[in-house]
Amino acid sequence: MDIKLNSNPHIYRVQAIYIYTMKRKDFLKFSTASAFTAALGLADVKASEMLKNNSFGESALLCTTCGTKFKLSFNYSENCPVCSNDRQYLPIKGQSWTKPEDLSANFSNVFKKIDEHLYEIRTVPKFAIGQRAFLILTPQGNILWDCISLLNDSTIAFIQSLGGLKAIAISHPHYYSSMNEWASAFNCPIYIHAQDQEFVFNASDKIIYWSGKSIGLLNDIQMMNIGGHFPGSSILHVPFLSDKGTVFCGDTFYISPNKKHISVMYSYPNFIPVSLMEIKRINAQMKEVYFDTLIGAFDGQLINENAKELLHQSFNKYV
Ligand SMILES: [Zn+2]
Ligand SMILES: [Zn+2]
Repeated sequence: MDIKLNSNPHIYRVQAIYIYTMKRKDFLKFSTASAFTAALGLADVKASEMLKNNSFGESALLCTTCGTKFKLSFNYSENCPVCSNDRQYLPIKGQSWTKPEDLSANFSNVFKKIDEHLYEIRTVPKFAIGQRAFLILTPQGNILWDCISLLNDSTIAFIQSLGGLKAIAISHPHYYSSMNEWASAFNCPIYIHAQDQEFVFNASDKIIYWSGKSIGLLNDIQMMNIGGHFPGSSILHVPFLSDKGTVFCGDTFYISPNKKHISVMYSYPNFIPVSLMEIKRINAQMKEVYFDTLIGAFDGQLINENAKELLHQSFNKYV
């Protein structure tokens, strides 16, 4: 079987230019201006040819559908195990992989300041699932909530200018992406719920598998296991970002485009719901969590008032 290496997913680049003053820790993003298109299209190269030329022998590859980076020793003639799981999907054209250097060459990360203590990090153009990561600043150090595939020098420099990372907390296996590279760059642990350990295909000693219902990180920030989408699916509760607390939900919960409904699915792309029993269980569990703000994995997913009431109203519709 030939392996398709998608060496140029989009020959399209958006340059994001940032100015920040180190003194004031102030940040102004002033442009994503110089977007230029050389061409659009896919340049599929057979990995076997690339291997012959030894041009990617030194780096592991990333799945272009889910963005997971695998080990160098992974058998790339196999399909991605994350996408083979029925919560995800394999593209009709079949499995394709990309090299980290092509990701760096064709994509950029954009930072958006949401709050004095909160930044959104997004890759442009969209890569793989297209989730956002969040940088949460605390006096005791910073936390990265969820992770994205692209980690480049400008991303490292920007986060270092704000104090680096004390911990990476990841909601579930769809966002493991390049987590080990992030953890190495910032020399920090990765918190993953133990019930999802079987979905970690690039294990490292940076990963802390935690168990139980919750774990305290920094500054009263708690990671809570909710389940539903994956057994280990977790949320992050940050008390100080809003009056009653903020919940980062990854895609443990999905905020609808009209922001009037919140759902839980076993598989979002395949529209497979969780059982009514699960909805009832999660509804009861969330009664114990106090928050007014909910932030989801994707662009625009923010409910900044009465989020808890909306969540329970949404779940009660099922019941
Ligand atoms: Zn995949
Ligand atoms: Zn997911």
